[in-house]
Amino acid sequence: MKLIVVGFGQCGGRIADEFARLNRRAHMQRGIDIIANAFAVNTDVADLSGLTGIKPDYQHRILIGGRKTGGHGVGKINELGAEVAREDGDKIIETIRTSKRFTEADAFLLIAGAAGGTGSGALPVITQHIKERYVDKPVYNVVVLPFEHEESTEERTIYNAATCLKSTYLVADAVFLVDNQRYVMKDSPLRSNLSKINSLITEPFYDLLCAGEEKKHKYIGAKILDAGDIIQTLTGWTAIGYGRSQISLTKKILSGKLDFRDKASEAQKGTQAMDEAISGLSLKCNPIDSKRALYLVSAPPREMNVDMIKELGSYLKGLAPEAVIRSGDYPREKGMIDVTVVLSELIDVEKVRSYFTKTISLISALKKRQEGIEDRYRGIEVTLKDIPSLL
Ligand code: GDP
Repeated sequence: MKLIVVGFGQCGGRIADEFARLNRRAHMQRGIDIIANAFAVNTDVADLSGLTGIKPDYQHRILIGGRKTGGHGVGKINELGAEVAREDGDKIIETIRTSKRFTEADAFLLIAGAAGGTGSGALPVITQHIKERYVDKPVYNVVVLPFEHEESTEERTIYNAATCLKSTYLVADAVFLVDNQRYVMKDSPLRSNLSKINSLITEPFYDLLCAGEEKKHKYIGAKILDAGDIIQTLTGWTAIGYGRSQISLTKKILSGKLDFRDKASEAQKGTQAMDEAISGLSLKCNPIDSKRALYLVSAPPREMNVDMIKELGSYLKGLAPEAVIRSGDYPREKGMIDVTVVLSELIDVEKVRSYFTKTISLISALKKRQEGIEDRYRGIEVTLKDIPSLL
């Protein structure tokens, strides 16, 4: 599957940059392209300058809102991010439309951090514009949720996240939810290392996008997972993850000396990798809530057999009984079994629900505060009248 990737704001731009690097890797290691083109859109010149994977010309790094923001961003005001994106929407879309290899793409992937200003506001607005213009290509969003410490120190974080999530859900074909906090917990030294987190966020897309683009016979699986399967799966709230387990049986398999214990352990490696994929999903969710799912197994061709794929299928069905499950195999890896899992059409996501409830209470608290201020203000006005003036 080939994507047009567009990152908005600092977070979105950096992750789009990581996708551009992922494509370079696919090109060098596998001789295929998974990204038709990558763009970064921002109101902040400095953020655009810090990128390395996206081409540096103005047709790939797109500055918006120059007049309103002077190239210094929108602070944390996502309404301003949305307004600037609305005003410059045609410029963004025209730049993307006239870019090289536009027609090769199967879908759009638009990315932003929910808690910021530019990305949080621009993401839903541009998603809507693109959806209105291109009915034949689905538009997917990646929404990055803030770290816990950001939520506890800044009210605006929750408000921005809730408004961005609601708006993207209304317009995008699917919303990949990525919780920054999950990547901190997995490996705490990463705390401040955003670039490492970004590479962990994009990694699960690698095999998923490559599998359907392979041209060489030996890398084409018995059951190909192509763009059609992915498009059929992606709807609404979505989480993605991947896991891998080492296999050390290759020599035994080649020599035909695989005994029954080896065979059992081989099957176990597959479920181990799937377990890791599910526990490492980009957002904590319950697989029971998923209505559509897919898994892709990548392993050395000799180690991938029908039994393993089937077993993984029934394992996932056990976890996500309500889901329509699509699958594929990708005979690529060496010495590893990699499993990518996507859970989509999630009917409940606790974290998203909590942003919505917190924001509703926040809005009513703000209203009360505002009324209090108005009363006090009126109070001054009333008393002011009764004071003699010297003028
Ligand atoms: P904007 O430039 O106004 O759109 O704001 P940001 O993109 O900086 O959005 C702030 C949110 O994005 C916060 O929750 C940050 O933790 C998160 N964020 C910023 N940069 C990155 C990044 O490079 N990677 C990740 N994963 N999150 C980021």
